[in-house]
Amino acid sequence: MSYEKFSVADFKRKFPLFSQPENRELIYLDNAATTQKPQCVIDAIVDFYQHSNANTHRSSHRLARRATAMVERVRVQAAAFLQAASPREIIFCRGATEALNLLANSLCSELQPGDEIVLSTAEHHANLVPWQMMAKKNQLTLRYVPDLAGVPEFDRLHEVLGARTKIVSLTGGSNALGLRPDFADIARQLREARERFGGNPRWIVDAAQLAAHEAIDVQRLGCDFLVCSAHKFYGPTGIGLLYGRESLLLAMPPWQGGGEMIAEVDLHQSRYGDLPHKFEAGTSSLASIAGLGATLEFLAGQDRVAMAAHEQVLLQKLHEGVATLPQVRLLSQPQHNLGVLAFAPVSGSATDLMHWLDGRDIAVRVGHHCAQPLIRAAGESATVRASIAAYNTMEDVDHFLAALRDYLSLSEVEESPAVQGLPDWQPDDLSALQLERLAAQRNWQDRYRELMRWGKAITEKPAIRCPENLVQGCESAAWLVHREAGGVHFFALDSDSRVVRGLGALLLTQIDGKTAGDIRAADIEALFTDLGLARHLSESRSNGFYALMRAAVETLQ
Ligand code: PLP
Repeated sequence: MSYEKFSVADFKRKFPLFSQPENRELIYLDNAATTQKPQCVIDAIVDFYQHSNANTHRSSHRLARRATAMVERVRVQAAAFLQAASPREIIFCRGATEALNLLANSLCSELQPGDEIVLSTAEHHANLVPWQMMAKKNQLTLRYVPDLAGVPEFDRLHEVLGARTKIVSLTGGSNALGLRPDFADIARQLREARERFGGNPRWIVDAAQLAAHEAIDVQRLGCDFLVCSAHKFYGPTGIGLLYGRESLLLAMPPWQGGGEMIAEVDLHQSRYGDLPHKFEAGTSSLASIAGLGATLEFLAGQDRVAMAAHEQVLLQKLHEGVATLPQVRLLSQPQHNLGVLAFAPVSGSATDLMHWLDGRDIAVRVGHHCAQPLIRAAGESATVRASIAAYNTMEDVDHFLAALRDYLSLSEVEESPAVQGLPDWQPDDLSALQLERLAAQRNWQDRYRELMRWGKAITEKPAIRCPENLVQGCESAAWLVHREAGGVHFFALDSDSRVVRGLGALLLTQIDGKTAGDIRAADIEALFTDLGLARHLSESRSNGFYALMRAAVETLQ
């Protein structure tokens, strides 16, 4: 099988970040956010600044000619990368977001009120918000591919296509779930809709994720436009590509105005330049374009089929591993998936889990992944996402799964009983918590487990979960209340994170039932450090503890 042809060790060696002493143990599974860069890309950027830095197109001195030639050479490479018919069909943008904004602004300016734009629930915000803005401005209607619990059923696209459909802008692969649509089927449905309704809806593919995992052929796809960002496929940030069919780009008005995109300017009007410069106002990210050139050369030298096969083996293993864990809800599917594992803990907070993994130097992402409608429709507020690149190894997957199992076994400490409908709050009973016992734990894992147990002493208090009691500066939601009786201060707190509840319990053992003088005199930061918490917990967790501490002290004023 072609997978055998891919040497992950050789591939990974090309990425200098992984050979830095501080990153030797790093397991980087946040590739859907951005990928690491090979040495050749870093070198190309440095080389541009060292040898060729000049602004392009505007001047004709030696350096300017050299920089201009580089930009146009990379455009030819980019056309080959996407199999575009001509370099004139390639527009350099800052990234997929800017390319989508360009399309939304330019295409929608030609539409009539009531015209329709079709999107899906799995779109990244970059492929939602620009269309929403344009729909509002021009009274356009947004329609969505039918979905099941947020997951679009692309085979039912035809149900929302009609005579008023002008634009169909769909993901080429979801960053939240990895889900990759069947493009041939989308093309078929669009063809049939054109035959049935006349008109010619434009098909845009958001290939921000796709480009990292598959070779793209825009002519074979049959799309009208396609966007991607270099940083998702081992290239630099600050540079992306917009492909558009030449006849369409010629007919479209430019989006941004400025230098470079004009043929002639007078005081009241301008004549725009030719393609592709008409859409490239201002100075481009020249060093990033140089880096993109190196990236495209790098990818052209790889067996991309073998790379993808390697990624799929890892992805299957991740899904098999997580599917056996009853404590998590798996949201992604291993089939038709570009490299994303997405899941949510059945109980407890996804952020706690992310910090635990971070403590093991495993980088994953937690949140809505800029796909809020999808995550919400799936019944979650946040998911854990592990996303794969070709430099990930089977050891990465094994370590990740082992760390996840460890965390879940730690969290098997029962959840604290919910106290429903509490009219007011009572201080929690913390008498069973012994600092000596926490300090006596032999290693970090045991101490963390003990801290989770402490979190159990903090009961849920719906009555205090309101905006006035929210502690600022804590990454997880945390609420703190205070009352004073006879010069003695009593506190209660709650959080949606078990670790923060544990840290809160630690804080309360130092301040609850004490006088203001005692509280001010307590060296809580020293205790936090002595317990090794400052060293082992992530910065944001430590900040959360200090935020709670500050909030408690502020109540004394
Ligand atoms: N579309 C998808 C599917 C993405 O995953 C992303 C980024 O995560 C974007 C668009 C936006 O890309 P960028 O932030 O590089 O502009």
